[in-house]
Amino acid sequence: MAKIGINIATGSLQQSEMIVGIDLGTTNSLVAIIHPESKNPVALKEHNSSSLVPSVIHFDAWGNAEVGETAKTYLETDTQNTIFSAKRLMGKNYNDIKEHASFFTYKVIDDDTDRLVKVQVGEKFYSPIELSSFILKELKARAEHILKTPVTKAVITVPAYFNDAQRQATRDAGKLAGLDVLRIVNEPTAAALAYGLGLHKEEDKTVAVYDLGGGTFDISILKISNGIFEVLSTNGDTYLGGDDFDRAIVQYWMQEFGITQDELKANKELAQGLRLRAEEAKKHLSNSDTFSVEWNGDTLAISKATFESLIQPLLDKTLQCCKQSLQDAKLNAADIDTVVMVGGSTRVPAVKNAVSNFFGKPVHDEVNPDEVVALGAAVQADILAGNNKEFLLLDITPLSLGIETMGGLMDVLIPRNSKIPTKVGRQYTTQKDGQSAMRISVYQGERDLVKDNRKLAEFNLTGIPGMPAGLPKVEVSFLINADGILVVKAKELRSGVEQSIEVKPQYGLTDEEVEQMLMDSITHAKDDIATRALVEARTEGEQILEVTEKFLTKNSSIIAPEEMITTAQAMQALQLALTMEDKDLIHKKVEELNEITRPFAERAMDAAVSGALKGKTI
Ligand code: AMP
Repeated sequence: MAKIGINIATGSLQQSEMIVGIDLGTTNSLVAIIHPESKNPVALKEHNSSSLVPSVIHFDAWGNAEVGETAKTYLETDTQNTIFSAKRLMGKNYNDIKEHASFFTYKVIDDDTDRLVKVQVGEKFYSPIELSSFILKELKARAEHILKTPVTKAVITVPAYFNDAQRQATRDAGKLAGLDVLRIVNEPTAAALAYGLGLHKEEDKTVAVYDLGGGTFDISILKISNGIFEVLSTNGDTYLGGDDFDRAIVQYWMQEFGITQDELKANKELAQGLRLRAEEAKKHLSNSDTFSVEWNGDTLAISKATFESLIQPLLDKTLQCCKQSLQDAKLNAADIDTVVMVGGSTRVPAVKNAVSNFFGKPVHDEVNPDEVVALGAAVQADILAGNNKEFLLLDITPLSLGIETMGGLMDVLIPRNSKIPTKVGRQYTTQKDGQSAMRISVYQGERDLVKDNRKLAEFNLTGIPGMPAGLPKVEVSFLINADGILVVKAKELRSGVEQSIEVKPQYGLTDEEVEQMLMDSITHAKDDIATRALVEARTEGEQILEVTEKFLTKNSSIIAPEEMITTAQAMQALQLALTMEDKDLIHKKVEELNEITRPFAERAMDAAVSGALKGKTI
């Protein structure tokens, strides 16, 4: 059953919730979604404009941030206030980037510590996380404008070599931008997904993803089996890309026109003019054999053959990285089943040929290499949203699911690693006389106390008819359907009142978080058993106290005053024991109170029988 919602802000119809895929790139970023009708991944763009948003942030005199094309125009004119390549700083301290400090034309603070770097703009300091969040905010706003619906959930890609700190930083940037980052996905994995690789369970493949962008080069070897992507090895050069091709052309023209390095440095206009024309030439040569343009009365020209010889050393460098990554994965080029091309620079025919020759097979380049990562992120987002029926990401529950019972204990209904779909029901009852409502709190996790687990949902079952405590029969059932959606239902069986709620239990948890929760449950297993025993003892003690008190009020006539005193004392002792962390003491006090009150119960029974017989004639 499809759920349809109405967006109150725009009045437009929403087909459940939209999860977007985001490629947060070093040079460019973009957003993609699965098209609701065609079901194909598409990159979002405004009419007649590019889907790519330059990952550049410009701060104006008042400190307002602007991201994208306009910001990019300040790259050379307002270097101090224009931030590019913030991704290179994610999760890094100054020592990590010291070697490349001159690359950053803005102010990266050298505090000579192990703390994460900050960037200074005017009087303000920004962490790379904040800077990335500006880019993500812009992407979010653009997506919302195009889709006419709020965008709050995303899958974001990162390079396969990103460590935990860098992944966390990316996640935090998302949070700061108002996005719930459902998953961080490796860029090569996303690229493979965009080509439909790994979408069939039986598939067993080794894939090489060659990613040559504007300023970075990555090669990753992936092993895909049973829908699981494993990164076997990665290699690359974080300062090698299409920009180096442009520089090679600039240098070629400088030689031709006798321009020296110093002249170029001194004349910013000349430098920028040549660079822009070099990039134009490079792009042109991807589809033609020659390029020429008139500029300042001169003709700037270059042939494809010349361009290819200029970039050959750079191509060799990338192939060297490929060789190394194969070695690290303990594979030969022939072991690679599929080669996938990513990044704008793989449009250069010489790049494709070189890679194809190296691996001895044609390369996959059908999908736009600038968009392929974002498109794959959208595929992953769609899987997470449960829309991709062919490919169930979860066919077992990664964590246990249960509800909160007395004393904050977790009562597991569906244990972790249960196969889905699955259905489980269990009966509960009320604690208090006349209790008309019952709160059902649904949790996910392995710990004994719900406070250590993750709350997924909560609802009230109301309208339970007045009955003594323990009499109502409330059946709570958990049903996880094939889409991984959990439906929790509570029904009071005597009266038939019922209430239900839908939850998507896998939301918001990454594999790492699941792992962490499992690790915690193992580390705390001993404590948890002790806590559970204590909570259970306390619950029992509280119940006994309540029952005794009720009994005393109702049956005071058959209890002697001294009995009243000893009972009150035993109750007090139990009350005190309940405040202590000693389950054995509680058990002992419960037993002592029971010892005292046992005869009362017998007496009350006799009284009831004789009362019933009174006035009756036989
Ligand atoms: P990316 O970082 O993946 O966005 O790649 C950007 C790089 O791709 C830049 O160096 C661009 O100049 C380069 N690029 C874009 N289109 C082409 C093209 N048609 N031919 C060659 N290089 C291109």
